[in-house]
Order: sequence, then structure tokens, then C-alpha cells
Amino acid sequence: MAIPFHKELRIGAYLMKQKLLGRKRYPLVLMLEPLFRCNLACAGCGKIDYPDAILNRRMSAQECWDAADECGAPMVAIPGGEPLIHKEIGEIVRGLVARKKFVSLCTNALLLEKKLDLFEPSPYLFFSVHLDGLREHHDHAVSQKGVFDRAVSAIKAAKARGFTVNVNATIFDNHPAEEIAKFLDFTTELGVGVTMSPGYAYERAPDQAHFLNRTKTKQLFRDVFALGKGKKWNFMHSGLFLDFLAGNQEFECTPWGMPARNIFGWQKPCYLLGEGYTKTFKELMETTEWDSYGTGKYEKCADCMAHCGYEATAANAALTNPIKAMFVSLRGIKTEGPMAPEIDLSKQRPAQYVFSSEVQKRLSDIRKDEAVEAQQKASTAA
Ligand code: SF4
Ligand code: SF4
Repeated sequence: MAIPFHKELRIGAYLMKQKLLGRKRYPLVLMLEPLFRCNLACAGCGKIDYPDAILNRRMSAQECWDAADECGAPMVAIPGGEPLIHKEIGEIVRGLVARKKFVSLCTNALLLEKKLDLFEPSPYLFFSVHLDGLREHHDHAVSQKGVFDRAVSAIKAAKARGFTVNVNATIFDNHPAEEIAKFLDFTTELGVGVTMSPGYAYERAPDQAHFLNRTKTKQLFRDVFALGKGKKWNFMHSGLFLDFLAGNQEFECTPWGMPARNIFGWQKPCYLLGEGYTKTFKELMETTEWDSYGTGKYEKCADCMAHCGYEATAANAALTNPIKAMFVSLRGIKTEGPMAPEIDLSKQRPAQYVFSSEVQKRLSDIRKDEAVEAQQKASTAA
């Protein structure tokens, strides 16, 4: 894996510490969403379908740092929305880097070249640029022409300034394995690392037709990895997670491994599914009914193989069974033969549709906050 050695070491030491302390559940990556507003409207996005009053809200820099301190995970990923729209994003990242957090700033890169001056290259900072495929495919995925070229130009500019850049690709059903392989060849030429995840079937995403189910996901990744034999694609995932994507590992989801904090609070149970919020990280860990989530347990989790549920599972598996991890890294990803047994879906609980009621609750909280702020301003002015 192309993860820098010091990062691997720090994360390994963190995981060992959690094991030695006997902790059953602990976070690996904080998913920090300081805003939901975006300057694109991708067809597979489940994050931006909110009323303006919510899209206009921002987490303050202090709230972002508090979240990182509270959670304690060694890595912080900042998705969104588009984090570069946030006026304090430079300050937020600086504060996280000062706390020695590995920060992955996820961006569609439309504003990246313009905003590079806000950041300083650091072994703790990575730009993770949203790129779903080659030019035609990416521009189609983000529903706007010209975005691929701007993103590639921004990647080159950031690399020329000494920043570490990765790309993150979401894979949908309409992406042939041969094209994904060509895209991965392109990322090698570009000199960037790659993360890939099958798109989660967000119930609010405009395009519902192209989400992959688990059987198709596994076959697609097998086909891609078969085309990659002998090539040196630079994946930023653990070998066991890639092996899971190819259907060779029987993993259960670890939703607390990548907890999500956004403008509403701590999201239950994970970055992909919003089924309630808590005020503190402790409350999230203690009050979420973790056993009610995951593939085989809940209908909305049935097709999920996303990194935010399963990368932490793979990391734990590597820790408890290093020989298995070593075996996968030596033999490479298996692309033929029988797959690991699939999780039984017959006992999963039915989906609950809480989006509208949650949005109403959040809107009423926002109105209350605004009334208090207005009152405070009026009393200061008097
Ligand atoms: S760039 Fe990301 S946040 Fe923005 S619309 Fe696309 S998927 Fe959603
Ligand atoms: S399987 Fe896990 S990561 Fe995926 S939606 Fe369900 S709880 Fe979230």
C-alpha cells in the first residue's frame, strides 16, 4: 500500500492502543462535514438535498476542532458539500494539522487552484479530489462539462506546489471494468493515489437507477483487478478491503469506525445514513443501537460495501489476523473461483423513512437558534 510509513505507523500504534485498552468500539476516521452546500449537483449525491436554511449553515472552526478532540480518531476526512466553499477552511485545516491529525480534504477541485494559498504542504495534509472516471464519464457523473479538465489542472497545480494529492472515485453500475482500468492507468500517470468505493444507494439521490448491488459490485471489482494484474495502481486502501470488494472476505460493517459530525451534530449510525443525531460523541457511542445496523440487519444497509463501513473492519481484521493480511498482500487480490458466503438478508428489519421528520426538526432548531442570536444582538445594541 502506498500509505506513507509514518502514517501507517501512527495508525497501527493507535489501533494497538485501543486493543490493549480493551475497547470494543473506537473510531478510526472522523468524517467531518462542516457544511452541506456544494457548487456541483451530482446525480448520485445524497448530501445536498436540503432546504437553503440548512445549506447555508456552517460549523465554526472551533466546533470542528472540538469534534476532532472529542472523537480522538487519528484521521479526519473533510467531505461535504464542498469544503472549499467554507470561508474558514484554511483555519480549520491548520488547527487539525496542529493537533497532528491526518487530514484528507475531499474536494471536487473547482476552487482548488484558486484556494491553494490557504494551505501549506504537510505530511499531515492530503487533498482527496473527487474524480469518478475519465473525462466523459466524470463530467457525466457530476452533471457538468469541463469539470474533469479543471480537476486535473488543479491536481497538477497542487502537486507542483508540494501537496500530496489522491483521487476518490465512486463507482456506479454504468461504469465498465475496462474504463475503470483505463482511469486507474491515468491516475498512475498523474502520480496520485486512489480510493474507490461503490456508490451508496442514497434514498434522496436524483439518479436511483445506477447504484450497484453487492453481487454486481464484487464481480465488477474482480474484473477491474483482473485487468490490473502486473500494474502498479496506487490504492490508498488496505489489501483486505480491496479483497472484500472482490468478494473474498466475509466482513460485517463497523459503522462506528468512521463516525460523522455535521451541522446537526453526531450522525447516527454512519456517514451514509442519517437516522438521528446526538450532541456529543460519547452520547453517539453510548446511545446508538449499533446492532440494528449493517448488512443483514437493516434494509437500508443491504447493498452497502462502502469504505466508511468496511475499511475499519478490514483494519481490525489485519490487526487480529496479520497472517491473513500478509497472505492477501503476497498473493494479490483473488479474481477467480468461489466468493466468500454472502450475508443472509432474510432477517433484516425494514427501512424507516425519517429524512423529512429529521429535516423538520433541524429546521425548527435552526429557527430557535436564530431567534436567540437576534435577541442577543438586540440586547447588546440596546
Ligand atoms: S461534488 Fe460531492 S458533495 Fe458536491 S454534489 Fe457532487 S457528490 Fe455531492
Ligand atoms: S452497512 Fe454500515 S456503513 Fe453501510 S449504510 Fe449500513 S451502517 Fe452505514
